[in-house]
Amino acid sequence: MDNQSSRKELLNIVKLTKQYLSEQDVEIKQNKHAGALLQLEKKVKICQKCPLAKTRTNPVFGAGDEHAKLMFVGEAPGRDEDLQGEPFVGKAGKLLTKIINSIGLKREDVYIANILKCRPPGNRNPEPCEIAMCQGYLLEQISIIKPKIICTLGKFATQTLLKSQQPISQLRGRFFEYRNTKLIPTFHPAYLLYSPGDKRLVWQDMKKIKAEYEKT
Ligand code: SF4
Repeated sequence: MDNQSSRKELLNIVKLTKQYLSEQDVEIKQNKHAGALLQLEKKVKICQKCPLAKTRTNPVFGAGDEHAKLMFVGEAPGRDEDLQGEPFVGKAGKLLTKIINSIGLKREDVYIANILKCRPPGNRNPEPCEIAMCQGYLLEQISIIKPKIICTLGKFATQTLLKSQQPISQLRGRFFEYRNTKLIPTFHPAYLLYSPGDKRLVWQDMKKIKAEYEKT
């Protein structure tokens, strides 16, 4: 082998080694990312921080793409979610799926979680002390997933994350800066089930989300 051929081969080996190391680096980062979310989920599964631990069937951690650019945050699990341990699987969940599909995405493309991880009995409103005890888990989920856009669903998720007392009707449809993301509130799908006339407002909000999503 002449000098030029050996040099070429050497350069090729260096190139392949760099490529291999970079792939390994990506894999390690992805494993760390998935690991962090899994560790957090394990904590939630055994959490006893508030009285809802005594009445829940299953905690509902969240579901979806761990690298999602778009994250939906709702209020709390309902009866179906409590039984299945999955977020938004009842009637309101089916509507949320349709809402997600309306902007050309699938449920698996986004991440879905709630402010409270356990069901309040009889689907009553969350108590402030329950939100205070539980919201740390959601904030950690957001820090790990790092979505570009967060869509809060309904009054409780919106007011909690924005630390605002303004009604959802005044906050919805506007982008707010929140922890390096853009946060946009809209109505909760459960509300739309008995106020279908407001679906058109949610559609307007979703068009804004789609436009922002396409920029990211
Ligand atoms: S609602 Fe949250 S804080 Fe309360 S027990 Fe469930 S996971 Fe823990």
